[in-house]
Amino acid sequence: MGGRILEEERRRVVESLIAEGYLRTQAVVDAMLRVPREEFVLPKYRRFSYYDTPLPIGYGQTISALHMVAIMTEKLEAGPGQRVLEVGTGSGYQAAVLAEVVGLRGHVWTIERIPQLAEYALNNLKKTNYVDRVTVVVGDGSEGFPPALPYDRIMVTAAAPDIPKPLVEQLRDGGRLVVPVGSKWIQTLKIVVKEGGRVRVESSLSCVFVPLLGKYGFKELSVEDRDT
Ligand code: SAM
Repeated sequence: MGGRILEEERRRVVESLIAEGYLRTQAVVDAMLRVPREEFVLPKYRRFSYYDTPLPIGYGQTISALHMVAIMTEKLEAGPGQRVLEVGTGSGYQAAVLAEVVGLRGHVWTIERIPQLAEYALNNLKKTNYVDRVTVVVGDGSEGFPPALPYDRIMVTAAAPDIPKPLVEQLRDGGRLVVPVGSKWIQTLKIVVKEGGRVRVESSLSCVFVPLLGKYGFKELSVEDRDT
């Protein structure tokens, strides 16, 4: 499918996300208009790039649906020049959207536990010229990424059983963390705000993410989980 058609589809899906109330901030609208999702999906799904649905990226993982990317990015309230940590790199698409929001003076660190996906994301970010603003790391993001702390914003794009304590600790005062918390099957999006050394937690909408595995996440999946 040609680039012009996909560009037109991107514009149309962003217009629907605005009409549906998922996109409200100009900076987030601009970011989603600029990042070519077709460069982050597997070639066989290219024609579905602007379907508002998660798509498989291999290793049992997915690139999130467009409305979920819009919601998470809006809830994060990131801005120019900020330092952002994303936990759960996947395809690298959300990291690219965040890179657009923080601009040339900001930076995004994104951490992925599956090395092959981190490599896939890095290649996607290279193709789309985001590597100067995004650092891809392999590791257990439930422990955060201490070498680059503190962060102004942290986004977790996998489901955690509880708010991972290291992520709250690595957040700067005045910072904001967005994380889906709940069971492996359904979660509530939590927004953690750190202010004057105090931590406030707000609950937002229900959502469904793949599990965050690791020290402060779920333990490795059982055979029963893998079969479902
Ligand atoms: N943000 C991604 C994108 O734009 O394509 C989609 C993320 S996908 C829904 C969740 C990702 O979290 C998967 O790639 C999974 O391997 C990763 N993940 C799960 N547990 C993790 C952990 N402890 N640390 C880092 N990544 C983790």
